[in-house]
Amino acid sequence: MAQKEVGFVELEWTCPVCKTRNPGTQKTCSGCGAAQPENVAFETAAGAELLTDEQKIARAKTGPDIQCGFCGARNAADAKVCSQCGGDLTQGKARAAGQVVGAFDPKAAAVEVTCAACGMKNPTAARVCVRCGAPLGKPVAAQPAAMVQPTAGGGGNAMLWIGIGVVVLLAIGAFMFFALRTENKIAVAQEARWQRTIAVEGLAPVRDRDWRDQVPADASNLSCQREVRSRSDSPQPGSREVCGTPYTVDTGTGVGRVVQECEYEILDDLCTYTVLRWGVVNTLVSDGVGFSPAWPAAQLTGEQRFGQRSERYVCVFTVDDKEYSFTLPSSLYEQCQPGSRWTVEINGLGDVVSAEREGD
Ligand SMILES: [Zn+2]
Ligand SMILES: [Zn+2]
Ligand SMILES: [Zn+2]
Repeated sequence: MAQKEVGFVELEWTCPVCKTRNPGTQKTCSGCGAAQPENVAFETAAGAELLTDEQKIARAKTGPDIQCGFCGARNAADAKVCSQCGGDLTQGKARAAGQVVGAFDPKAAAVEVTCAACGMKNPTAARVCVRCGAPLGKPVAAQPAAMVQPTAGGGGNAMLWIGIGVVVLLAIGAFMFFALRTENKIAVAQEARWQRTIAVEGLAPVRDRDWRDQVPADASNLSCQREVRSRSDSPQPGSREVCGTPYTVDTGTGVGRVVQECEYEILDDLCTYTVLRWGVVNTLVSDGVGFSPAWPAAQLTGEQRFGQRSERYVCVFTVDDKEYSFTLPSSLYEQCQPGSRWTVEINGLGDVVSAEREGD
């Protein structure tokens, strides 16, 4: 985010003695003549617009005012002696600066200020009553609706989750108990079964999406639209500026500096397109019983190629008249001779987890 200066705006301060609101650049109260005390802050003035007065702007740029250490009067940052009492300003104290005093929004809905003395409705920017001259308080803007506090009672929800967790853990525990408990049995091999597969791949149209400079050269049916590809803190060729709400920062002079945070969106064409890609179009399968496995025979057409091959060898056993099957590594497949005796390990879920041929 880069900070961008929008301009300057006059702030105001409220006299603690007589409650009169005074323009920020005015050092003494127009109601009672008192100097603005150090602890009375500048505030945003409702409906204030950007300043065009070059003198006030230049003053804001010189730095925060110095509060005289003897009489408390505010003096410009570059003054050497107090304009009110002549005191040495090196003994004074610079006003605080840099605080955000509020959003800058001259178009905010005008709020009428009602005079406490005579009831007259005054325009937003008025500081004294247009009818009786009494000092006016701050205009009261409509308050945003109160934030809805999240209701307490998340505890009940937490209990529910703990309950679900316990049930899930019990289920996993029971599963592990049955799956891990195994039993050794004597089995008789009945049949050796094999299966071999070959994937056939072909070129097929696929829709994909990329930034224009990354679209493959052979892509077709492009459909593109402008999207934000990256963001930068500084303006770039062709970038789009996006700024936050302007806000006002106290300069300690009665004039606020209006700034906003901006970033720059760099746009590019995001395109969807069609491209030909290799994909599985068919799987050839060959299977049988016995010890002469063979790969499926296949003819490829022009735009095809062979993909992944896989083979699987299964020995079918009987244990107490029940049938079980177990996948063997190809090196042990030929041991699965019908009638041979095996020791098999069967788990609680009825699966054979290991098999070993008995010595003859
Ligand atoms: Zn006053
Ligand atoms: Zn002084
Ligand atoms: Zn009045």
